[in-house]
Amino acid sequence: MTLQSRLRDVESRIEQACIRSGRQREEVKIIAVTKYVSVNTAQDAVQAGVSHIGENRWPNAKAKWDSLNGQAVFHYIGSMQTNKVKDVIGKFEYVHSLDRLSLAEAIHNRAVSLDIHVSCFVQVNVSGEQSKHGMSPDEVKPFLTELRKYDRIKPIGLMTMAPYESEPEETRPVFRALRQLRDDLNEWSFLKEPLTELSMGMSNDFEVAVEEGATWVRLGTVLVGKEDIEEG
Ligand SMILES: *Cc1c(COP(=O)(O)O)cnc(C)c1O
Repeated sequence: MTLQSRLRDVESRIEQACIRSGRQREEVKIIAVTKYVSVNTAQDAVQAGVSHIGENRWPNAKAKWDSLNGQAVFHYIGSMQTNKVKDVIGKFEYVHSLDRLSLAEAIHNRAVSLDIHVSCFVQVNVSGEQSKHGMSPDEVKPFLTELRKYDRIKPIGLMTMAPYESEPEETRPVFRALRQLRDDLNEWSFLKEPLTELSMGMSNDFEVAVEEGATWVRLGTVLVGKEDIEEG
């Protein structure tokens, strides 16, 4: 299958999920996750009409950013070491993996020096799986309170990864809990701006995530495939 036809396929599956759940197609944006593919394939994705690219490690992302700078918006979706902040901030408009105050402080300081603001998702480990990054749902409210010190960071929503399930339907409670958490946080008047975004859903489970309110789906394998590329 060509990238073009895979994109059409993904588009129609998202549309169907929107119809099933009474949502508008425009509420859901696609991030093509290019971590498993070459620069050429990432370029093909942009040619095919993808405008958001997701990467999880700066050394692998660098060549793609260099070649696509200005043609796509970059999203940092992997856990970020504080020493990578200087490489990433200023190049990636969105960070999906904000999970601790020390990282918030580093992003804020870098953003001050570049005179920019950075849109961030707080990463939440809804499932409680040991292997997953992110804070527990209980920690999000106190975290957002502390985050107010760092005014260059715009918390725009929440991100989660569901455990891999052979039956995608089984991920539903995770996505539903993330949406519920976001809605609960928005009831609380402490936030300057409501949290509008939910970054959830990957190749295996994006239709369920869309039905549960995802505003960004992060699609790797199903959209751009998986190639044998060298790790940077
Ligand atoms: C790799 C990755 C994805 C995409 O994974 P696929 O299952 O290939 O769609 C999405 N989100 C995060 C955080 C990832 O690391």
